Amino acid sequence: KNLVIAIDGYSSCGKSTLAKALAKKLGFIYVDSGAMYRAVTLYFLRNNVDISNDDAVADALQHIELNFHSRDYESHITLNGEEVSDEIRLMPVSENVSEVSAHKIVRHEMVKQQQRMGKSKNIVMDGRDIGTTVFPDAPLKFFMTADPKIRAERRFKELESKGNNETTLEDVFENLAHRDYADTTRKESPLVRAEDAVILDNTDLTQDEQLAFALERVEP
Ligand code: C5P
Repeated sequence: KNLVIAIDGYSSCGKSTLAKALAKKLGFIYVDSGAMYRAVTLYFLRNNVDISNDDAVADALQHIELNFHSRDYESHITLNGEEVSDEIRLMPVSENVSEVSAHKIVRHEMVKQQQRMGKSKNIVMDGRDIGTTVFPDAPLKFFMTADPKIRAERRFKELESKGNNETTLEDVFENLAHRDYADTTRKESPLVRAEDAVILDNTDLTQDEQLAFALERVEP
């Protein structure tokens, strides 16, 4: 039977870095569930979808097709065939994704698609509700945390390295704090540690140390 590894946690605390490294090491497929919510948000922004109108939201979802293409264990996502991997990381999407991802109809559709991906393949999936809602029976779950200031600095450097010099460190910090608050307090599957998830605080850990920590828990 195929294996699912679930990685949840706060915004920008290294979930995707660890998930990619694990997937590479184990030969699993990496699925970035946050990219799906971000791509939906991008579509909503571009098409002025009124989030308070359930019919409009449901209708828009019918017109969205998301696909992952992994190249070198980097995950690339397409929205109706268009590569949007970079655009979904920019501030307009980051500032609106919490609201879109709190929507019941949006979550229902994303969870359905995510569960389908884990049916027959070995995957590592990261997000906010993977161990609690998407794959509650996953045999291995991690819950990641890190110091908020460190997280903001890491995300800021990442944006900077992609040539983004409009966003300040303060903007990034505020956005992370806002998303953490929204993610942990929303009604639909709020961000919470699954009881059987292993906590990984990586404030003082290198990427190699985190990978080693995780690999020790993968059954031989
Ligand atoms: O992981 P990332 O920070 O890119 O996710 C963007 C946003 O998508 C999160 O702030 C959260 O609101 C939402 N999300 C979610 N459930 C997931 C993954 C992401 O609600 N499984």
